[in-house]
Amino acid sequence: MTQTPTEIRSLAPTIAQMRAHIVRVCKANKIEINYERHASASYRPPEIWIRPIRSPRAYAIALHEIGHIIGRYQMKSSAMVRERWAWEWARRNALQWTPAMEQHAERCLKSYAAEQLSGLNFSEQYARARETGAFPLRCFPYASQLQSFGKQLGLISANLLISLVQLGGLEPPTS
Ligand SMILES: [Zn+2]
Repeated sequence: MTQTPTEIRSLAPTIAQMRAHIVRVCKANKIEINYERHASASYRPPEIWIRPIRSPRAYAIALHEIGHIIGRYQMKSSAMVRERWAWEWARRNALQWTPAMEQHAERCLKSYAAEQLSGLNFSEQYARARETGAFPLRCFPYASQLQSFGKQLGLISANLLISLVQLGGLEPPTS
């Protein structure tokens, strides 16, 4: 017998059930929940920071943060691997994983990958810039502004500028 759309809808978990699920999983795994705006997770002590769950997306993000603690491959040095597998844990353990949740996960991974990639290109470009003395303008949108700012001041050495920008560009995101 096929299900009518109404029956399918009735199978979808409610927000209250999603919220209860997060609380249950965290309790079972001794993970402390902090309700703050910024989504992140700490491994030791096991703690997550999430927004109160009022939407399927917030539920998906909470699962993702839990995935950073009890998911697979979270000890890997590659941040991209950790991110991917935290989402994989969320996907596998959700009461229901909807297309909207998947879309959000993919968007997060894509922007994370872009961030990582630009950081990498950036340091590579700067390493080359140090050798050749050429300031790489294309790799970073503010490079030309920074360069002219540096010139105007005439105080900041190119190396200091490079280090500062590199620090900013390579700081790993926390979530
Ligand atoms: Zn993450």
